Amino acid sequence: MTSPAASPGHLPSPTQQSELGLSADARPWIGPKGQVMQRLELHLTYHCPERCAFCSEEHRMASYRAFPVTWGRVATVLRLHASRGVRSVHFTGGEPTIHPRFVEALQLARRLGMRTSVGTIGTMLSRPDFAERALPWLDEALFSVHGPSAAVHDALAGRVGSFETVTAAMRLARRQPGFGLFANTVVTARNIEQLPDTVALLGELGARLIVVSNLTAEGGGFDRFTELAPRLADLARILPLLPARAPDAVLRFFGVPMCLLGPHWSCSNDLHWDPRVTVEWQSVPGKVAFAGIYSWAPDRKRTHVPACEGCARREVCMGVNDLYALSFQTDELRPFSGGAG
Ligand code: SF4
Repeated sequence: MTSPAASPGHLPSPTQQSELGLSADARPWIGPKGQVMQRLELHLTYHCPERCAFCSEEHRMASYRAFPVTWGRVATVLRLHASRGVRSVHFTGGEPTIHPRFVEALQLARRLGMRTSVGTIGTMLSRPDFAERALPWLDEALFSVHGPSAAVHDALAGRVGSFETVTAAMRLARRQPGFGLFANTVVTARNIEQLPDTVALLGELGARLIVVSNLTAEGGGFDRFTELAPRLADLARILPLLPARAPDAVLRFFGVPMCLLGPHWSCSNDLHWDPRVTVEWQSVPGKVAFAGIYSWAPDRKRTHVPACEGCARREVCMGVNDLYALSFQTDELRPFSGGAG
């Protein structure tokens, strides 16, 4: 395999574009506020060895498992988006590392000048031979860890051995010089009390970025929302404790009302979010299509409630999960006053 045609995150030169079959006159996608679309999320597979209780993809995996994402589709999507100025790709799924041409997808993305990223529970990257082939083509990986121990993680993942797999993969990735070792932990009512220990563990494993994600009401997270949704009072009690548990990592809070973060409100992911196009199977009248959904703000399934009306950060905070607002009281919100710093 030849070396990448362009540096990750940089547009290939006109000559390289021609060699790679990219259209030189394709225009970027521009958002409603003039944002330029630069991030692609590509769903590589609708299979996964785990059965996470809150999996946001559970319904889509059931619907589209029979539709393989062929190499031809992967290559076409990568080329199209590279030609329109997209500079990074995040491979997701299902479990993207089990796609039979995962490493080739990384290599093509790099040759097209994209930064490469994967969201994974470590399935294949826990195998030293596979990690050795894949990691040189990956800029970063976001590992899914549900708790500080096998007992907590495996119970939520639905498979004994899952914790061992993902932590082994993180240890292998940590050996790669300059690698973007990141972690995501989804907060539920079942693991919130262990969350400080989870964050501490992720820091010890070398995670440079730790994303603490509130439960999303999609897939299994929708079906089991009443049981799994962490209450706002518990989020307000525990989330402000987390940055001190991993002092060398950057923390981001995804899908959480900003006013529950105490002095760490500026760690809200609402303030650090990039527009993205998500390419995945979708049902359209009469067929399914592998097509893009364009997101220009992190407001998916979020809503403002009456308490937000006078909040000084209403314009930058996307509020509460919409199903939470329908299901539970939101009295714990503490709207920011006009002079809040
Ligand atoms: S009151 Fe509403 S808008 Fe203000 S920070 Fe809280 S959730 Fe966000």
